[in-house]
Amino acid sequence: MSTAIVWFRRDLRLADNPAFAAAMKEHDAVVALYIHAPDEEAPWRPGSASHWWLHHSLAALDADLRKRGARLQIEQGASLDTLQRLLKSTRADAVYWNRLYEPAVIERDARIKQHLRDAGVDARSFNAALLFEPWEIATGSDGPYRVFTPFWRKARARLEVRPPLSAPRRIPMPEVSAGYSLDELALLPTIRWDSEFHQVWHPGEAGAAKALRTFCKGPIADYAAARDMPAQEGTSRLSPHLHFGEISPMQVAWALQELATNAQDTAGAEPYLREIGWREFSHHLLFHFPQTPQKNLNPRFDHFPWAADDEVALRRWQRGRTGIPIVDAGMRELWETGYMHNRVRMLVASFLTKHLRQHWLHGARWFWDTLVDADLANNTQGWQWTAGSGADAAPYFRIFNPVTQGERFDKNGDYVRRWIPNLREFSAKDIHQPWRNPDALRRSGYPAPIVDLASSRAQALAAYREVSG
Ligand code: FAD
Repeated sequence: MSTAIVWFRRDLRLADNPAFAAAMKEHDAVVALYIHAPDEEAPWRPGSASHWWLHHSLAALDADLRKRGARLQIEQGASLDTLQRLLKSTRADAVYWNRLYEPAVIERDARIKQHLRDAGVDARSFNAALLFEPWEIATGSDGPYRVFTPFWRKARARLEVRPPLSAPRRIPMPEVSAGYSLDELALLPTIRWDSEFHQVWHPGEAGAAKALRTFCKGPIADYAAARDMPAQEGTSRLSPHLHFGEISPMQVAWALQELATNAQDTAGAEPYLREIGWREFSHHLLFHFPQTPQKNLNPRFDHFPWAADDEVALRRWQRGRTGIPIVDAGMRELWETGYMHNRVRMLVASFLTKHLRQHWLHGARWFWDTLVDADLANNTQGWQWTAGSGADAAPYFRIFNPVTQGERFDKNGDYVRRWIPNLREFSAKDIHQPWRNPDALRRSGYPAPIVDLASSRAQALAAYREVSG
């Protein structure tokens, strides 16, 4: 009897899982293994919100495996040692996994693959996380892209949507001595700031499929316009599901294609696929520029005159007490739900890096710890793009004005009112600049702005002029 180990990492699903499908096809029995080894991802070990998600996603995967006659073998410790130990105890002769693209993980996986192959093990990896491998799309001179539009034009033209692989019905698993229990990994926070998370999120493959179905039934039709409105449920909320691999981008692309077959409104399908394209682009950038989670992509920014680190300002930004309503609403949404709307992510990032002139890494690290969808490729790209130091960055003189942005994208102030109840009494006219009504502001207990928006904008412009060329 031949046995394969399938090493699950961030591909926590049974359907459209190429490593799992290959193991099931080529072997008589399969060990579904998860190894908890966060230090191997240093310096970007998963943050607290990611750990919350991971706990529930592993529980869901284990339940799905049990329904099919198997279970999830949970281990912790060095990945290579663990794999070698299990290969011996299960007499398996193959290890299959799906690829990840973070620099530390690429380095580890290459080392492990080499070790296993040297020992005669059939070690094989697959693409389950992306529509294209990051090296498959290249410029005319065979280099990486730094601008999204031509990248996506090429990728889109080459995209061949295929039907997703189905999940197996029965999974034969050999005798394996018990590993760790999920609780022993201690992934859940000790200070329970996550009480709201369950209201909003359903980690696991079934939760991912449901989120996609819900989105395709309604919001997708108006996606192009509604995706910028934070008070509306206009986006798919698939980001943590995609990050943990509970659904594949190919399953998403397939569902979009099916819309047309089912004669549904497809107006939003292409704009939506384009956002999935941004995810592909972020991975392309991270793969080709692996230094960018810590360093500016554009080296000119190494000389940017950031303000001195300001612990107090940073703390007020983190806790949603800057006195700028749309910024604070976003930061409170993040704290309470582990998520923030994309438009508001851009605004809070711009406020931190431009009006407060704090280094983008301060913001990237906070997001890393608090977002349930914290993703090294997307987070790095989002922060560097907003700061102006990254690929395809907006011109330096385009500094988001959080008041006019709030008035444009949260016209009635509903989003601000939802997250900052003290401002509930303010009219739509005043809610994005409550300081215009000093008496009401004092009564509300909401703080006055931490900076003057006009003068901090002027200082940011002067600083950006120094590094623009
Ligand atoms: P939808 O609008 O429904 O989009 C569908 C999917 O496309 C998303 O789930 C996501 O996988 C992808 N996508 C959408 N927008 C982007 C984008 N701008 N860049 C890359 N991929 C995108 N996204 C993360 O997944 N993890 C992060 O850590 C992250 N950090 C960010 C930090 C900053 C400063 C900014 C400006 C953006 C960041 N984003 C990040 C991108 C984006 O905000 C989220 O992907 C999006 O808000 C998730 O919500 P959704 O699933 O409803 O998106």
